[in-house]
Amino acid sequence: MADDAHPPPTPPRVEPGAPAIEIGLPDRPVPPSRRSRISIGIDLGTSNSCAAVVQNGRPRVIPSRDGYNTIPSMVALNQRQRVVVGRNAKGQLLFSPARTVHGAKRLVGRAFDSAVVQSMLSHFPYEVVSTEDGFCAVRLGPLTLSMEQVQALVLQEVKGVAENFLGEEVNRAVITVPAYYSERQREAVRRAGALAGLHVERILNEPTAAALAYAWGRNVRERVLVYDLGGGTFDASVLELADRVYQVVSTGGDTFLGGVDFDQRIVAHLVSEFERQHGPFQGDAVAFSRLTDAAERAKCALSEQERFPIHLPYLASVDGSPTALDVTLTRTELEALVAPLVERTVRTCARVLQDKGLGPGDVDEVILVGGQSRMPLVQERIRAFFGKAPSKAVHPDEAVAVGAALLAQSLDSAEGVVLIDVVPISIGVGLPGGGGRVKRVIERNSPLPVRKEYQLATTKDDQKTFDLWIFEGEGATVAECQYLGTVQLTGLPRGAKGSVRIAVAFELGEECLLTVRARELGAGREVEVTFTTKGTPAEVKKRVEKEASYAAAGIVVPPPGAVGTPHPGPVAHPAPAAEPPPPASGGLKGLWSRITGR
Ligand code: AMP
Repeated sequence: MADDAHPPPTPPRVEPGAPAIEIGLPDRPVPPSRRSRISIGIDLGTSNSCAAVVQNGRPRVIPSRDGYNTIPSMVALNQRQRVVVGRNAKGQLLFSPARTVHGAKRLVGRAFDSAVVQSMLSHFPYEVVSTEDGFCAVRLGPLTLSMEQVQALVLQEVKGVAENFLGEEVNRAVITVPAYYSERQREAVRRAGALAGLHVERILNEPTAAALAYAWGRNVRERVLVYDLGGGTFDASVLELADRVYQVVSTGGDTFLGGVDFDQRIVAHLVSEFERQHGPFQGDAVAFSRLTDAAERAKCALSEQERFPIHLPYLASVDGSPTALDVTLTRTELEALVAPLVERTVRTCARVLQDKGLGPGDVDEVILVGGQSRMPLVQERIRAFFGKAPSKAVHPDEAVAVGAALLAQSLDSAEGVVLIDVVPISIGVGLPGGGGRVKRVIERNSPLPVRKEYQLATTKDDQKTFDLWIFEGEGATVAECQYLGTVQLTGLPRGAKGSVRIAVAFELGEECLLTVRARELGAGREVEVTFTTKGTPAEVKKRVEKEASYAAAGIVVPPPGAVGTPHPGPVAHPAPAAEPPPPASGGLKGLWSRITGR
């Protein structure tokens, strides 16, 4: 939520008895005293992060110290018990996978016991654990870091690279997130930025950033679809661009579909090849790390060539002797392995268009972003579905950072651009005593900012408090939605049951961060609201199913003078089908379980 009512972040933990480890992060955000002259754009990616800045009116990507345009989004604990970030962390991925975190973007802001996290646990070569407040953290030997802290370390590295390049302090940034990120995930990134010593000027959706980069310097009036297939997430968004107004009209995606899933399919294939050639595969975590690395190399090479030989000496032991994997992967084989993943992205594009009553022919341009969109099969499927070749106007790895830099600069100037985003996931409240039903309050695809009121009545005489459980998702029950937190209303006026009525206003601002306010309807007094994420989502779901602390009046009324709908445009769309379940484990789950013992 956008207020300060959150509990402070869980500090990094070092196991008792272990020597102290220097993390290089404050325990809680310390806002920099002076705002820097320059504000940069940061694409905080699953695999790599990228920063850009506007100089002399032109956007440019900030090169890292060693001349790369991107920085690996990785954090590791090295053998000397030092925390290392970026390329140094990537350097130890192959031989120390259990102490090297990558893919934190998929876990940040997610409840540890959510179904999606539980189904993915065996895919991570490092140990994912729960923070005290029920979110995901990672255990690297004796050190436990929350995912927010991992992201903060990556952002701190990006900040350092920018300062080194620009020769001055940089503490302001626009940071991008997938359009399909939940409210909790957005808030977690904002807090990670603050921990890294950044004023986060704006959380910006990646497709909107890509559209900004696409339209820069051109006078476009177009409806575009941004297809963003990165390392770990997929987003499809339809935007209408006219002069300086960039309006998202529909969005959808999958925060568990990206290049790493393609790699996992290849790894599963390589393991079965090994087993076909030599019998049961007894590889350890290092063997899996080497396989994953080889799979990614093969995948990228096969975007340019038809065949790729893979040779991994001493991969695993067979009957006591170290045995190599020797196999040649062809583009045709690769395409057969990953075609279902590409089809999932195309289905999402179809649904995002349908939500708005559009078809593939209604799109003027398809903009591809994210490294995985370089795959020829992706481009062929897009061409077939839309009936036209995708645009080559933006660089798939850099467009998002460039767009963020353009917005950062625009926020500093008088003639800014106008960005109108939409709510990616519906928000609702758990109905007490309703068998776990969720009443939707704000519909998916409502233009931002949006404000809706929900009215409640007491169920007991002189009731003093209400607990309002907030969920996100398209499902009708708490089991199908994600728990966001509990809003506690305290200090209610005395009165017979049913006589005290409260209007609770849900506001989602431009960045899609939630603020909740409550007003007692009799005297019109503000009611104190505190937000808590205490209690695991499972416990809360149980309580919602059982308790009846307030009457499920369930009246949602647009209040007079509501903020929402700032201009003509789409309001609410019919509820779409729920997002598809997380990808099947592709045979890897069992293998990882074998080596992690889970
Ligand atoms: P991003 O998060 O946008 O940096 O995307 C990174 C993902 O893109 C990783 O899974 C890479 O393996 C993948 N990728 C990068 N280059 C290529 C390529 N030439 N062909 C296929 N996938 C690629």
